[in-house]
Amino acid sequence: MSYVAVDIGATNIRVACGDESGLKRKLQEETDQANGAEGVPQQIIRMIRGVEGDPVAIGVGSIGPIDHSRGMITNTPNYPFKEIQVTEPLRAAFEAPVEIMNDCSAGVLGEHVFGAGGETDNLFYVTMSTGLGGGAIVDGHLLAGKDGNAVEIGHLTINPYSSVICGCGCPGHWEAFSGGKNIPYYARSLLQGTRWRSSLLNDLCGGDPQGITAKMIFDAARQNDEHALMVVEEIGKVNAVGFADIVNAYDPELITVGGSIALNNPDLILAPIERYIARHVINRVPEIMITPIGEDVVLYGAIALALDMS
Ligand SMILES: [Zn+2]
Repeated sequence: MSYVAVDIGATNIRVACGDESGLKRKLQEETDQANGAEGVPQQIIRMIRGVEGDPVAIGVGSIGPIDHSRGMITNTPNYPFKEIQVTEPLRAAFEAPVEIMNDCSAGVLGEHVFGAGGETDNLFYVTMSTGLGGGAIVDGHLLAGKDGNAVEIGHLTINPYSSVICGCGCPGHWEAFSGGKNIPYYARSLLQGTRWRSSLLNDLCGGDPQGITAKMIFDAARQNDEHALMVVEEIGKVNAVGFADIVNAYDPELITVGGSIALNNPDLILAPIERYIARHVINRVPEIMITPIGEDVVLYGAIALALDMS
């Protein structure tokens, strides 16, 4: 018998069993969106059976927004369903305690219990992936908020007058510039009027600016393409504002960074933040590092949540 962790992401669901010593068996599948809102918990139940038939407790870290008291995902822009029940179907299937938390809250908890954050009670975790998110432990308390959606840093306003519109509809949110899904839009606005047509970036997208992806930009930047480097630098300036806002608001001792964009491009993401953050902070700048527990940070947090329930 062991504990079970579930990570519900924008495109994938990951499940693992584990205990105080860490994660054991892991499974990953693309989220089933073909069988309605009920298909998602059914898929999770089947995946849990694949790693542990008799869980002691189940912790879930999920994309938001969540409704913590009702144990569900509500109005997420990532799925075509309005509400997805999570905790009740799992509780019924396994007769075990189940708790859900926002994936970035799970991330900071995982970092605190299993990762780099064990030494401090003032810790912040940033994920830079399809979107941006954050989790905070302040004075030893995990910040949750009334529904479990505190610290939605991706939707901090960087520039209220910007023509760059966030997926949520608001102008100039941080995620609208630096979220993996939005980087191509921001990049196209930056490239307009430049001589980027003679660049490696132009070759990578086959001459079609609509085909530009975040990966192409970072790949070209790694090969010193000057236009891609310019885009990465501008994204970094925006990120420096966001990180400065975190430092000013939460005063963390350590910020760890995860998510596919950061994990795949650690230097291109961190270096500009370190270059520009001093312009925007009043508080002492803490150490900023890539999370040592990589893509498993949410699963580690979900295991820590499950351990806490028993
Ligand atoms: Zn937004």
